[in-house]
Amino acid sequence: MKPALPETWIKSIYTQAEAEYPKECCGMILGPKGKSGISRLRPCKNRQDDYHARDPENFPRSARAAYFIDPRELLEIQKEIRKTSEEIRIIYHSHVDAGAHFSEEDRRIAISEGEPTYPGVDYLVVSVIKGKATEMNLFLWDREKRDYRESSSARERWRISRNESELQR
Ligand SMILES: [Zn+2]
Repeated sequence: MKPALPETWIKSIYTQAEAEYPKECCGMILGPKGKSGISRLRPCKNRQDDYHARDPENFPRSARAAYFIDPRELLEIQKEIRKTSEEIRIIYHSHVDAGAHFSEEDRRIAISEGEPTYPGVDYLVVSVIKGKATEMNLFLWDREKRDYRESSSARERWRISRNESELQR
């Protein structure tokens, strides 16, 4: 059973996704090490544009279509969670003017040689359309299919759809 995300965290992720539009936002949800549950929301900085400007060959996409967490920030997080006895539960990011699906680029990052890059970590994708966060979906590793699949139960619990009239504003 996956823990339900507190509504305040969902709002907080939506707020971050809207604030960083038209760039993708990213971050992590941490949990107590070796136990179930979640403990902390840890937004990260999307450095994709810096790397794209410096090295367009290896980083062909801009932050509108990709996210990249600086290795230094990853190191900071590793230090943080060692102190607090936490571990990474979920990596989240937003899609700019696209649905909350798991894209080929997401798969490329999440799967290394047929195995999860971060074993035990799920992925949360938030859709931001015209600057408004509309929904989020969780993707879990499917051992048999060797692929990430949308979590149907989490979808029911986590998805917050906003009505069409609000989207039009
Ligand atoms: Zn993505």
